[in-house]
Amino acid sequence: MLGKDHVSLTLGTVFPFTIPLIFSDNSHPVYAFCLLVAAAIGSLIPDADSDEKPKLHYDFKVIYDIMVPLHKLIVFSFAFFNLKEKMNLQYVVEKQHRGVMHSPIGVFISSFVLTLLITIVGYLIFHGINATFISLLFLGLILGQLLHLLEDSCTVSGINWLFPFGTRELKGSIYTGNKIEGKRDIRPFLYKLFLLFFSAILLIFHSLGTIDVNESGIYLLIFAVVALIWGLILLTAKIDNDNLWIHDAKNVRKLERTVDRIGKQDVGRKRRDLRK
Ligand SMILES: [Zn+2]
Repeated sequence: MLGKDHVSLTLGTVFPFTIPLIFSDNSHPVYAFCLLVAAAIGSLIPDADSDEKPKLHYDFKVIYDIMVPLHKLIVFSFAFFNLKEKMNLQYVVEKQHRGVMHSPIGVFISSFVLTLLITIVGYLIFHGINATFISLLFLGLILGQLLHLLEDSCTVSGINWLFPFGTRELKGSIYTGNKIEGKRDIRPFLYKLFLLFFSAILLIFHSLGTIDVNESGIYLLIFAVVALIWGLILLTAKIDNDNLWIHDAKNVRKLERTVDRIGKQDVGRKRRDLRK
């Protein structure tokens, strides 16, 4: 999947959880912001082992610069174990970019090391540590990366979730590039739309007073709906039907632009409401 798809699907998944953080009586918008930024960064990290770097890797080159030595370190430390998939550890993947960074173990190690690095730098600058920020940073990085793996599990290359200890491959039928020239798979767009729609519904219900974001059960409700949406995403990603999913690239782009415009108008309206 493309870098921008990873960022938007990840933010679309994490954003509903930040709504209570932003709108409850005891709100912490800064915490929500920290979680979203960490998740966005996390959503780009696994592609550090990719041969074909997404454009966003060049826009935020610093993330990649940190991840390359980290990737090498993880590969080096794993080389001592007698692992089932040892041969695959170092493969510089060409068309299919799935190395150790595309595994839960790589996600955990890289999130841990990155959090540690940022904590040390933060401590040197501010002479103190904010435990909540550090926890949110770690949580965001882990979530962003695990969601990246879920998103890649929808593509034809798939993800081996047991890597490097075994093989349990989860794959779908979405091509990262275009399967047919001039045509595009509409699914990543539909998935974004689904997630966006849920956030919009939550915000509308909140403003109408239908749901109370102060209630403790709110996170459970959000989790249940997001899990349901992700169940649908993984299910439909497996359905290989060109007539259903592959459409004229121009029309898909037009649809994307329309949704963008509506989203921007909505944000503009909310800002004006807040100023009043
Ligand atoms: Zn990837």
